[in-house]
Amino acid sequence: MMNFSRYNIVKMQKEARSLPAKIRSLVFVFLLRVFVVFLAMCVIIGSYSAFGGYLGIISKSPDIEGVFESNKDFEKYSTFLFYSNGEKMEKELSSAGANRIKADIRTIPEGVRNCFVAMEDERFYEHSGIDVRGIFRAAYSVFKERSLDYGASTITQQLLKNLVFKGGKESSPIDKIIRKVQEQYLAVQLEYRLDKDTILEYYLNTINLGNGAYGIEKAAQVYFGKSASELTISEAAVLAPIAWSPTLANPLKDQDKNSRRRKDCLKNLYENGFCTEEEYLIALADSEDVYLRIQEQNQTKLDSTNTYNSYFVDALINQVIADLKTAGYSSNEAYDMLYSGGLQIYTTQDQEIQAIVDSYFTNEANFPAVGKGSYYQLSERYALSLVSTSGIAAHYHLKDFINYFKDYKDTRKIYYHERGKGNTGISSYTLDKDDLEDKLDEFIEAMKQAFRTAHPGEEFNVQESRSISLQPQCAMVIINPATGEVVAQYGGRGEKVGNRVLDRASGTYRQAGSTFKVVASFLPALDAAGFTLASTFDDSYYIYPGTVNTTVDNWYSDEFRGLQPIREGIYNSLNIVAVRCIEKVGPRTSVDYLQKLGFKHIVTDNNKTNDYNYSIALGGLTTGCSVLEMTGAYSAIANQGVYVEPRYYTYVLDHDGKLLLNNDMHYTQVMKTSTAYLLTSAMIDTTTIGTGTKCRFQSLNIPVAGKTGTAHDNVDLWFVGFTPYYCAAIWSGYDDNLPQTDNNYYRVMWRNVMEDVHKIKGCEPKQFVRPSSIVSATVCTKCGKLAVPGVCDKTPDGSCMRTEIFAKGTVPYETCTCHEKVTMCKDSGCRATEYCPNTEERVYLIKVETELAKEHGGTKDTKYIMTPEEDKECPLHTEAPTPTPSPSPDPTVTPPEP
Ligand SMILES: [Zn+2]
Ligand SMILES: [Zn+2]
Repeated sequence: MMNFSRYNIVKMQKEARSLPAKIRSLVFVFLLRVFVVFLAMCVIIGSYSAFGGYLGIISKSPDIEGVFESNKDFEKYSTFLFYSNGEKMEKELSSAGANRIKADIRTIPEGVRNCFVAMEDERFYEHSGIDVRGIFRAAYSVFKERSLDYGASTITQQLLKNLVFKGGKESSPIDKIIRKVQEQYLAVQLEYRLDKDTILEYYLNTINLGNGAYGIEKAAQVYFGKSASELTISEAAVLAPIAWSPTLANPLKDQDKNSRRRKDCLKNLYENGFCTEEEYLIALADSEDVYLRIQEQNQTKLDSTNTYNSYFVDALINQVIADLKTAGYSSNEAYDMLYSGGLQIYTTQDQEIQAIVDSYFTNEANFPAVGKGSYYQLSERYALSLVSTSGIAAHYHLKDFINYFKDYKDTRKIYYHERGKGNTGISSYTLDKDDLEDKLDEFIEAMKQAFRTAHPGEEFNVQESRSISLQPQCAMVIINPATGEVVAQYGGRGEKVGNRVLDRASGTYRQAGSTFKVVASFLPALDAAGFTLASTFDDSYYIYPGTVNTTVDNWYSDEFRGLQPIREGIYNSLNIVAVRCIEKVGPRTSVDYLQKLGFKHIVTDNNKTNDYNYSIALGGLTTGCSVLEMTGAYSAIANQGVYVEPRYYTYVLDHDGKLLLNNDMHYTQVMKTSTAYLLTSAMIDTTTIGTGTKCRFQSLNIPVAGKTGTAHDNVDLWFVGFTPYYCAAIWSGYDDNLPQTDNNYYRVMWRNVMEDVHKIKGCEPKQFVRPSSIVSATVCTKCGKLAVPGVCDKTPDGSCMRTEIFAKGTVPYETCTCHEKVTMCKDSGCRATEYCPNTEERVYLIKVETELAKEHGGTKDTKYIMTPEEDKECPLHTEAPTPTPSPSPDPTVTPPEP
């Protein structure tokens, strides 16, 4: 029954009015439920896929089976190097961890171990591989600081990072996250397998503690000269921060930073109950002393160890790796053996000689002064990169830098020199290095600003590769010609700034210039083409056959010297003589010799631009040659014609002391002993009367034979020379092929270095050995045939007769055919007749000069050649003079009557 009471009616009315509200609320509840279900599904699906992703990531974790089962990873050893006298070099070759020495955890004092625990992972003994509290703290810092470089890695994780993840140097943030996930997963796994002490032992034996010290035992030795078992807490607290950053907290490089971290370490140690208050105070009291002990220990070692490889060692590494590959090892195996195989390499480097070379090359006073031939050059490989954490990148190069300052340059606000000469590349030079550095800094700031404007809110990293070097550059190699041993090498001016950097001694190929005259032209001429030092070629106007006007120019421009013997061609460096000579010899013969002499980049491919050209006589090469090759080739001349392949080591022993590589001498008799001696003889003249007098020794009575070399406008400058003891080549040039203004400094340096070398090695005065196959004969210098006394020595220019040396069997048998002694009439200047009353004897040169030569001013010979006018019979005295008429008969005298 319906209750129509007022109350009910009001109630019903209310209910009726609120019906839509009710429906609304029902809809709301329904939607809420749907949303919750949806959310739950999302969470479930999301979790599943996240979990799937997680499973995917951890299923791809590296296998740690085996890594921690054996001592495999400890069996890595540095390679030791020895000088030629058997003395061990300070420099060792080692990859990360190769020179570690294992320390047993039981011998490492507890306080020492705990320093590392306190510094890196204070809950190490409590967690099970990952530190949850640490992760939350790190996660917070990620949100707050938007940085992915959160710490919170436990010692277990760090161990995995070092041993399994190769140090964790991922470039992308995704890879980094993946590695972190795998690392955490494996950390838990590892904690199941190994106990805490074993994990800590692995960790302490493998961490990088800076200065080449991997592992605590090696570090104890490097920094304190003692074993890890003897370390104090104070000392361990110096080492623990290095594990955080081997470079930033390195006590040898930044004592202040290390010291601050050391105090944090000690504080943590004490506050976590890892040491007593007394131990803490003792360690604090040692805060200054501990660094003094490190300095003392490293006083002598700092200079020599853990600096960059020398140029010699770089070249040595290349040779050993190449030889290991030849012996059948793969590239990777060869590198592994070299850097962690514990090899012993017996090098050819002479410590004393290298020290002399180093001292000259690192002393700027030996090079052209800045502003007087030298410039600072910003490397063409300059690079600046701005890379944001989200992967946006901007890259800049040298041209961008130069463009940025274009206006400054135009208004001379920046002191710049663009010394390009037909150079398409951009070259930047300055006399003011500080200014250049400031401008670079300014450039970087401007680019950063531009980046911020273009990408607001992006965090980014700045990477710059800035290399400023002094130019011209210079390189030198010294070889013992008898053994082919490279005793010293320097690959660049000034201090070396990295490993495997540009090596201008054995790793770059330059134009050889006139040094090639000897090896490409005159050597084959003497050795294989029947020429002698006396053979002459005409220094007269010359264009390369087949060209319209490609001339060969001499370094002296005012004259042509006429007929010149090969000897002069060598010591006076005569270009046209060398080219006319190779024309006779043939470039193919020349190339054969060059290859036998060790020039490996001569191009002989017929389908390409090759080196079968006459210009090879002047060192015009397609690719070029290295200072090492040049020294090796001239060493063959110094070594009586025997070429010995240059070598940087004699043998290599493996870790067990067994012979791994035997680098015996590889030698070939490239030329006759006599040829070598003939060339040597002419090249002694270079330093006594020729183009290389600056290279003659000043205080030692030891002859220097050598050859100067200049290529195109002083782009490449050389001197290569030898004594009865050593052979050395020096090169000077701009890295980017600009002409040089100082063409003397390197010759002076060659002499000073070599003179010091001979002094320090106690070389006695000694002459080159003259082989018994050498004979001498007196020849005419204009035709190279036997001189005719009274003719060849009576030429108007003095004498064309001299004694020359020959290989037995090559002495000319003909007598001079180029000189003619003629009786001339002094009155007419023509050939005298029998009737000429005033005559003189004159010696003329018999030579035909071409029209082309005559058009270009003839030669110095021209005036000694009989002119057509002179070559006539005297027109004045053509017949017997009319006898003087007898005095007329005296008319007063009556002739006798018949
Ligand atoms: Zn003559
Ligand atoms: Zn006459």
